[in-house]
This record gives sequence, C-alpha cells and structure tokens, in this order.
Amino acid sequence: MTTAKRILVTSALPYANGPIHLGHLAGAYLPADIFVRFQRLKKRDIVFICGSDEHGVPITILADQQGVTPQVIVDRFHEMNKNAFTKAGISFDNYSRTSLPEHKALSQEFFLKLYEKGHLIEKSSLQFYSPKGQRFLPDRYVEGTCPNCGYDRARGDQCDKCGKWIDQTQLINPVSTIDRDTPVLKATKHWYMKLGDFQEMIEAWLDTKTDWKTNVLNYCRGWFKEGLRDRSVTRDLKWGVPVPIKGYEDKVLYVWFDAPIGYISSTREWAKKIGQPDRWKDYWLNKDTRLIHFIGKDNIVFHAIIWPAILMGHGDYVLPDSIPANEFLNLEGEKFSTSKNFAVWLDEYLEKFAPDPLRYTLAVNAPETKDADFSWKDFQARNNNELADILGNFINRGLTFINRNFNHQVPERGNLEAPDREILAKIHESRDTIARNLENFEVRKAVTEYMNLARLANKYFNDQEPWVNLKQNRAKCATTLNVCVQVSRALAVLGAPFIPFSSEKLWHILNLSGSVHQQNWDDVGKLEIPSGYQIGELQILFPKIEDEQIQPEIDKLQKILNRQKSGAISTSAPVVEKKESPVDDKISYDEFKKVELRVAQVLQVERIEGAKKLLKIQIDLGTEKRQIVAGLAEHFQPEELVGRKIVVVANLQPAILRGVESNGMLLAAESSDGKLSLVTVIDSTDNGAKIR
Ligand SMILES: [Zn+2]
Repeated sequence: MTTAKRILVTSALPYANGPIHLGHLAGAYLPADIFVRFQRLKKRDIVFICGSDEHGVPITILADQQGVTPQVIVDRFHEMNKNAFTKAGISFDNYSRTSLPEHKALSQEFFLKLYEKGHLIEKSSLQFYSPKGQRFLPDRYVEGTCPNCGYDRARGDQCDKCGKWIDQTQLINPVSTIDRDTPVLKATKHWYMKLGDFQEMIEAWLDTKTDWKTNVLNYCRGWFKEGLRDRSVTRDLKWGVPVPIKGYEDKVLYVWFDAPIGYISSTREWAKKIGQPDRWKDYWLNKDTRLIHFIGKDNIVFHAIIWPAILMGHGDYVLPDSIPANEFLNLEGEKFSTSKNFAVWLDEYLEKFAPDPLRYTLAVNAPETKDADFSWKDFQARNNNELADILGNFINRGLTFINRNFNHQVPERGNLEAPDREILAKIHESRDTIARNLENFEVRKAVTEYMNLARLANKYFNDQEPWVNLKQNRAKCATTLNVCVQVSRALAVLGAPFIPFSSEKLWHILNLSGSVHQQNWDDVGKLEIPSGYQIGELQILFPKIEDEQIQPEIDKLQKILNRQKSGAISTSAPVVEKKESPVDDKISYDEFKKVELRVAQVLQVERIEGAKKLLKIQIDLGTEKRQIVAGLAEHFQPEELVGRKIVVVANLQPAILRGVESNGMLLAAESSDGKLSLVTVIDSTDNGAKIR
C-alpha cells in the first residue's frame, strides 16, 4: 500500500468528442488531483497521467455529422479539454493523446503479445452492414428499439434509457444512423479476447482487495456470476489503431482495448519529455509501484476486470492497486445530459468564475459513496459562507490587525495559555486527520476537516479578543496574533490540495519564499514563522459571488428543463386545444401546390456572429445540400438540431440575412407563450421526401 516506493495515478481518459463538464471533473479528475497534490507534499515519488481517448465510434459519427475528418474533431476537443484542465488546476504530469504513433505501436504490441500467447481467437459472425453505404455499421452506427425496455432510440452498443449493454443484432427495427438505411446482416471476421480464461485469476486477485469500495467489488461479482465471455477486440472501422494482422487491413482495434494502454503510452511520453526515456519502466514494470486508477462508476468493468485481464495476459506489467470509482454528480437535482446541453461545461465556467470555489464545492459534495448534486445556490453559499466568511475572514482579520498595529511584522510570542496551546495542537490533529482521509480517498471528510480548522481558528481569534488586549495586555495580544500567523501558514499548506490557487496566494501574502506546493506536509505545525518576520500586503482571497452572477446560469438550465417538459406536453396534447385564431382566408389547392414542402435533415448548425437570434443551418434535401438561416438561436442550442428531420419550404426565393445566404425556410410552430417547436417528421422518412 502506502509503503510502495512509487505511486502512479491515472484519471480516466476523456473522449475527445465533446467538452468536459462538472460531472466529469467531480468523478475522475478532481479527486485524483487532490490525492496527487497531497502525495507530492508528502514528498512521495508520484506521477499523474492522463490524455485524450481519440478513437471510437462517437468520434467518427460526430465527424460524419459535421462533414469533417475525425482528426479535426479530436484536435479541437483535445486542446479544449487540456486547457480547461490546466485552468482548473488539474496538475497532470502528462496529458497525452491516443492518436499518437507511439500509442498505436504500443497497442499493436499488446495485441500481438496476446495473440502469440493464445489469448485471442478469430470468429466469424453476422454484423450489420449498410447496402446503401457499402460499409459495416459498428456500435452506434445503428440505432433501434431496445429489446429490454422498448426505448425507440437505443444505440447499437447501449440503451440510454435502461443502461443495458446491447448486442446490435438484438435491436428491433434497426436503422443506420448515417442515412437511416435499413441494415442487413453480413458475415465478418473479428478477433476476440478469451476473457473467460482470466476469470479465476481476476476473482482471486480481487479477493485480496479487501479495502476497495464495495460498489466496485459488488459490480464485478455481478459480472463473474454471469461468467466472462469472449469480447471482440477488433472493429470494422478505419479510424483507430490498425490491426497488425494480414487480412485485417480494413479493421482497427476496438477502442476499449487500446484506450487503457493510453495510460502506459502517456507515461512513456512523459519519461521522454523529462529526458529519462526509460523512467516509465520504474512505474509500470516494477512491482514496487502502487497503480491507482481514478474513474467514474461507468468505467468499473473496464478497469477492474477487462484491463487487468489485458495486463495479466501480457504478463510484464503491474496490476492496479486501487480503483477509487466515484458515483455520479447530478446538476440541480437532474442528470447531466450532454445531448440536451443540460450541463455546466468546465471551459465556460472558467470564463466566469475562479477555479477554487468550484474545486472546494465539488470536494465538499464529492460523489464518493452515493450520487451527489451540484447546484449554483449551493456553490454560491459554499463560496460566500465558508471560503469567504470563515477561511478568508480569519486570514483577513488576523493579518489586517498585524499590518495596522504591528507594522507588518509577526508579533513576539509570549507565554502560551490553554487556548493558544489548543489551537496549535489542533493544527497537528487536522494535518493527520486530513492525511488519513486522503490516503483513504475520502476527499469529503478531508476538506470538511480543513474548513473545521479554519472555523476553530476564527473562534480562537474571537475568544482571545486581541482588539481588547491591544491596550490592556499587549503581550497577550501579540501572542494571539503570533499564533494566528502560524495557523495561517498551516492553512496555506493544508489547503494546497483542495484550493491550490488560493493557497499559493496566501503563501505570498505571508511573504514566504518558494511555492506552497513545494512544502513538506509533515512540517505543518512544526515549522513556524519567526517573530519580526515581515509579512506582505493583504489581498482578498475569496470575493463574494453575487446573485446576479449565478442567476443567468440558473435561468439557462431552467430553460432547458422547461423546454424538455413542454416538448413532452406538446406531443401528447390534443391538437384542438391550441389557441390559434380561427382559420379563414381559404386558398385553392392549386395555390397550395405552388409551395414545395420537403423533408430535410439538419447536418450542421452554427451561430452567426452579431446576430443573436439567427442560426446558420446546413441541410440535406436528398438530392442536394443547402444552407438556410432561421431565427431559432434563442430557442434551441445548435447541437439540439443536428440530425433532426425537419420540413422546409424548398422553393422559396433565396434571401440574404445578416450577410448570410438563406436558401429555403423551415417550418416551426409558435405557442401562445412564444415557445417554438420545430415541425418534424419521423426519422425513417427519406431526405427530400415531398409533403402533400
Ligand atoms: Zn433500454
């Protein structure tokens, strides 16, 4: 355990097909970063590894939808997520990407090793194939009705509604997500990993993990009960790691196989970057390493069963020592939904607010043993009532007092009385409690203990009444302030894992040299700032967050929820209840016939700079692709529209709106409250179909 010479920490590789939201951050990244920062202060040999997972069907589907190459998609989101992590203070030693040649080579080496050792088996099977597109349709390229719950838009790998993993061929009424073509079954060959060979070994190995979270162990037991089955390692795709075997030129490795190998290739890249190219071996090939994978609970099976099987199959590498899997974070009491844009995106958050209040709020609410919730009101309250009013207030009062009355110098410490000794002893106690909690991956308890120390420090300042003693008993007043300075130093170091930016700021306010992140955890409470030491200028550590700052964020989410609800109502509401003015002004059929209404599929949507209401929309009219401009920007997020089958007036004269050409008009209905809903047709309708 902690006696291992080295620690290697990984966070789940995020898919480079979208931005990171707070739910992701709270699950696999922030808890890992807090743990790593703490271990660095403990002066342990530790490396923190992550990177973008750049393969897989969700990426190629998004690329198809946007009419760009997968490389364009992964380049965009790799950069975006890397920057957001940096700004949020997630201190990876390396953030790599699985599209790098080195990663491909290593993944192929793993494949060949398993192949040579007889852990792979080739099988022929029937898989969905699109006659129209002349291609196989792996995973999410097919959707249909879930055989388990009847949800009509279940994806070819998993049902979003009931969560069940699906074998594509079980889908009822399958259609291609590329062009709604009905797929046929066609024979194809794939390599499968014989996971069953490893079941006994993995079960025995997991039996030794008595300190693991019960959610992880129970989840695995469920899999063992059903028995581990062969799992295909290759896919009929072009984007990914090429299969290094003859006859497989049109196939790539399945992303579940190459993604975790990304942890190793990222460590190798890190070693190269620091000029010690063999250094990665110390972590991956040496048994004296503690390998820790931080993940969300949706990733348990991959990290606790499948990945260890790959590592056992290869044989050279260490196995995971701990897999702290977190539960999910909800948002304002609802599930995060990327497709509905019901999320707080990390990059957008960071444009408006500082990282530390978020880190603190997510740490206090860490989804460790059950699902947790983020709400903007709670975020505001945590910042204002705890960070500002307790921690910030204590620092501010003590140091302002010194600057005013002791000329910026740490006052002389006289005789210590019981309250002085108690708060100084509390520093040691908190240091050890926080350390114990963090060793056990209990971030919630750790950060609560931290704030508790600040709370007691505030109380100490109040109870000692230095403002009274300033005149009556200056020596006692000086002692109180001296103690306050020592507590402030401790709060800087002990807070560094949770609120790294504010801790560093406090370190500089105290005018201490170096960085707070280079200090030694075990010196907290031992090293003291001497009397007479000149402290620096005060700055506000935690500005209050006002209602006006968070209200737009709350409104935005509420609007999305309302839209969801109103959408549900409008489809079930009888048409007669609509309150439109009665129809008069009759036209002849010939007049109606002049209007050419056609079905079109939305391919791509973007906002138009300088036009708040307009969206530029690329559509597929079957025989041609076109651009239209529509006043939907205040009603829909661009991503809500992509893929929808809409109705357009196809023979309208082109118009220029805000400098952008519009070649057609889409139809929408306006409710009495101003809400718009699109006129759509069922997804299986052909693009370009005439409406009569
Ligand atoms: Zn289902």
